[in-house]
Amino acid sequence: MTDALVLGGGLAGSASAIMLARSGRSVALVERESGPHHKICGEFLSIEARDHLEALGIDPAALGGTPIDMVELASGTQLVRARLPFTAIGLSRYRLDEVLLERADQAGVDVCRGVRVASMDGHRVSTSGGDREAGAILLATGKHRIRGDRTEADGGTDPFVGFKMHFRLAPSTCRALAGTIRLVLFDGGYAGLQPVEDDTANLCLVIRKDRLGELGGSWDAVLAMLDTLPHCGDLLRDAEPLMDRPATIANLAYGIAPRPAMADGIFPLGDRACMTASLTGDGMALALRSGFVAAACIAQGGSVRDYHERHAREVHGQVRRAMALQHFQESRILRLAGLGLLGAFPGLLRQLAQATRLRRWA
Ligand SMILES: Cc1cc2nc3c(=O)[nH]c(=O)nc-3n(C[C@H](O)[C@H](O)[C@H](O)COP(=O)(O)OP(=O)(O)OC[C@H]3O[C@@H](n4cnc5c(N)ncnc54)[C@H](O)[C@@H]3O)c2cc1C
Repeated sequence: MTDALVLGGGLAGSASAIMLARSGRSVALVERESGPHHKICGEFLSIEARDHLEALGIDPAALGGTPIDMVELASGTQLVRARLPFTAIGLSRYRLDEVLLERADQAGVDVCRGVRVASMDGHRVSTSGGDREAGAILLATGKHRIRGDRTEADGGTDPFVGFKMHFRLAPSTCRALAGTIRLVLFDGGYAGLQPVEDDTANLCLVIRKDRLGELGGSWDAVLAMLDTLPHCGDLLRDAEPLMDRPATIANLAYGIAPRPAMADGIFPLGDRACMTASLTGDGMALALRSGFVAAACIAQGGSVRDYHERHAREVHGQVRRAMALQHFQESRILRLAGLGLLGAFPGLLRQLAQATRLRRWA
């Protein structure tokens, strides 16, 4: 029995565990993976995400992350380029999540790796390592639901599928992409390509399930489609895949999850509370913020209701703006008109990047 039990050792889980341990609480964290692993993510660490990591004593640049200060937005034959209003970092989740778990361990958290949560019933949690109980349960299993967790997906009727693959790019492409994230919008989805650590590039994309079906449903078919896109195919030519197969996830439930009717003391964090549109590259900041907010509420003796209210004030504005942008880009006419406008006034792209940020952590 600990003061707090964190389910899931991703960004939200590790951040909340570290902050709670720092406030003197006894904390255990269970993570089903026993070692480093790839996660579906564009791996673009925004300035807000960097602020949170800094507060946790982590400098992503010192971990080998690549500074990114340019954004390119492409659709059809159009391409718009602008300087970002901040310097982001490209760093793989394979590396980042491990360092967070190490920090949690150093902060005194009882980190249990290779332990899967099977179900929960109020404050009683059943895991592959036995049953556990705690005063506060922090539900941080990302996109994965746990039997009995009472959270609901809000993915609509035609949810998205995500893919991610690391590549070693051709030297000329590496030079062209240095310090840049390129976002390519296409019918039914979008892809992002950017450098991460060790001269590696991450390709991450989101595609509607029906569009994926039209393409034939396979990763090879997705790559073949990307190859036909004017500002994408050239980047991936002669690229060497560095993972055996892409990481994939289905049923991406974008939006703000309805508040679950839960017993007090159960805090849904990160993607279990809301999933912002991936296009804005701020999901990691939101996940970290939820961990900070939950830890602060628990440390101050606040209730889950207090947590939901503060969490909503902090993050829901960003989610709404990001979702509006995602819906906008889904219409081909609006997308092309938008790109035309951004092409005429490139400063607008920088403003758009600024407008879809989470408020910075003070
Ligand atoms: C396609 C795509 C691209 C994205 N790109 C970006 C980007 O570029 N920048 C950005 O900031 N955000 C991005 N995001 C968002 C970001 O990846 C997520 O919002 C963030 O990872 C959420 O963190 P989390 O801690 O809630 O969940 P996660 O990081 O997914 O962590 C959940 C943890 O729980 C563990 N777990 C799951 N089930 C169990 C179980 N039963 N028992 C024990 N452990 C369990 C998992 O192994 C995992 O470690 C993207 C998202 C998508 C889908």
